[in-house]
Amino acid sequence: MYLTINGIEKSFVNEKKERVKVLDNINIEAEKGSFVSIVGPSGCGKSTLLYLIAGLDRPDAGDIRVAGQKVKKPGPERVVVFQEAGLFPWLTVLENVTYGLKLKKMSKAEAEAKALEVLKMVHLSRYVDSYPHQLSGGMKQRVAIARALVMEPDILLMDEPFSALDEQTRMVLHKELIEIWRKTKVTIFFITHNIREAVQLSEKVVVFATRPGKIKDIISVPSMKDGVMPDSVTL
Ligand code: ADP
Ligand code: MG
Repeated sequence: MYLTINGIEKSFVNEKKERVKVLDNINIEAEKGSFVSIVGPSGCGKSTLLYLIAGLDRPDAGDIRVAGQKVKKPGPERVVVFQEAGLFPWLTVLENVTYGLKLKKMSKAEAEAKALEVLKMVHLSRYVDSYPHQLSGGMKQRVAIARALVMEPDILLMDEPFSALDEQTRMVLHKELIEIWRKTKVTIFFITHNIREAVQLSEKVVVFATRPGKIKDIISVPSMKDGVMPDSVTL
């Protein structure tokens, strides 16, 4: 198995100084190139799990392995797209996307060529010289996706990336994300509190229970992937 999440435990101390288990024996497997969603109500531990996969935090127990390697720290092969696009307002769309590549010491010409390629994939070729404030919410999220893809990650981690968008924009972005997934064969871990969105997008839906942070169910979704709900899934 490509990605294995093995017996993960994570606790936090809350404001009453009590230790609260947010993730309790979480086990998930994902094949390379698969599209997995994590769905559950607010506060059930979805983001916490995503940060652990990203290597932004460490579990109290258990381990996460990608291609057999234990995740210990963040790396360009696992990138996160957050609910807020988090673009640099003083940089253009193109500069936002090439930023990470320049840190990797890639030449400007090479970085720009790569950025233009991914910006085309998210249908933003015409907006390379725009600044974030000139873009709609959906376009900002497309830039955030382009900025992630340009790093050529093996795993794209998405934390409620479309939750702040209106329904129509979200539907368009669903279609685009499926196209990107097919084209790049990137493994996607997608977090949402919306079970419909999870089922529409992914092949496997991991449903979290509210408390404590346990998995309630893992649903395999029959193939579809064109934004059409399969008949065999009832919500
Ligand atoms: P979700 O993403 O499903 O809404 P989170 O993973 O963000 O949930 O949070 C799960 C629980 O863990 C919440 O009760 C939250 O307050 C708590 N929590 C998350 N991160 C921290 C932290 N760094 N310190 C203390 N508590 C935290
Ligand atoms: Mg969250």
